[in-house]
Amino acid sequence: MRLAARIERIKPSPSSVAAGRARALKAQGHDVISLTTGEPDFDTPEHVRRAAFEAMERGETRYTDTDGTPALKRAVQDKFRRENGLSYELDEIVVASGGKQVVFNAFMATLEAGDEVVVPAPYWVSYPDIALLAGARPVFAPCPAAGGFKLTPEALEAALTPRTRWLVLNSPGNPSGAAYAAGELRALADVLVRHPDVAILSDDMYEHILFDGRVFATMAAVAPELAGRTLTLNGVSKAYAMTGWRIGYAGGPRVLMRAMAKLQSQSTSNPCSVSQAAALAALEGPQAVVRERSAAFERRRDLAVALLGAVDGLSCPVPEGAFYLYPGCEGLMGRRRPDTGAVIERDADLVLYLLEQAGVAGIAGDAYGLSPHFRLSIAVGEDTLVQACERVAHACAALRV
Ligand code: PLP
Repeated sequence: MRLAARIERIKPSPSSVAAGRARALKAQGHDVISLTTGEPDFDTPEHVRRAAFEAMERGETRYTDTDGTPALKRAVQDKFRRENGLSYELDEIVVASGGKQVVFNAFMATLEAGDEVVVPAPYWVSYPDIALLAGARPVFAPCPAAGGFKLTPEALEAALTPRTRWLVLNSPGNPSGAAYAAGELRALADVLVRHPDVAILSDDMYEHILFDGRVFATMAAVAPELAGRTLTLNGVSKAYAMTGWRIGYAGGPRVLMRAMAKLQSQSTSNPCSVSQAAALAALEGPQAVVRERSAAFERRRDLAVALLGAVDGLSCPVPEGAFYLYPGCEGLMGRRRPDTGAVIERDADLVLYLLEQAGVAGIAGDAYGLSPHFRLSIAVGEDTLVQACERVAHACAALRV
């Protein structure tokens, strides 16, 4: 079978690959703690699950409008108004099968061969590959730990060219946990107003997992003059522990949203009807659970940062949100494994060592475009997290200088 060139341009999601490797080792009887997962370890709230059952009982098991049921789109409209101060008409909103499909639809609907997408690094692994699928070229803007993993106006200006069609912003960010304050977004907006052909993807998927009393900010609200070219993406996957239900949504300019809906009508059609009913219950129901879970992630962050920050050779920046740590491991490069004598030359070498010797699975920073770092998910119980950090500390200390 001959495959299309577009499929050769992309790679399988590195997090799925790493999670699969950890699962396989576990299945062989190895004692592995997997910190690879990109989903909350909590259950979908009870009232949300109940809403799904009730929807099935009512017979909501058929096709819906392609871009979401009117009820869910109204709930999304209310959410954007209530939480973000953004006003969208219903035809400026699209519901899709996960946030990932929103990115896919947006890029496929707008990008031509040779167009560029500016992606601050480290980045969520799917942005560059979806841009590549659409025939475009990802342009990476390095955002090192020293700058809090954040894009500066200068770095943005340097990355923009006449071919730039999109800037991707993700706050709080996967994998770094960096969260932009309103003032930081405003400074980026001041650059973007001078580049009217650049659209902005604001990926707010981790909006509700935000620490230390920070106030969430999103570009279309901070810079209303950019709202006509900003796609505000969000979803229920992370906030409500609903990764498997596959519901994401977005608000943005009508012409883009209608193009995205048209594309969806010729690919997946409507998102799952039962999942839409569940997402409606999540958005309209009690929100205390969201705050409680964010607080739980914050406690875990504090525990893990304290343990890993004390390890010689590691630096552990403090995430401002999301549920990952992104420690730097420059200080361990050049050290030797005690078991094989092999030199740790790259973050991937360290991640392999930690998996084989410490039984802790993480993901190498090269997958996220900023090395030497590695990502550890804190979406596990506190005892497991402490045990994993102690194992990492022990293994790092055992490396030979
Ligand atoms: N955006 C970011 C930054 C993510 O990390 C993820 C999932 O890992 C998504 C979007 C996609 O979420 P969904 O599961 O709704 O497709």
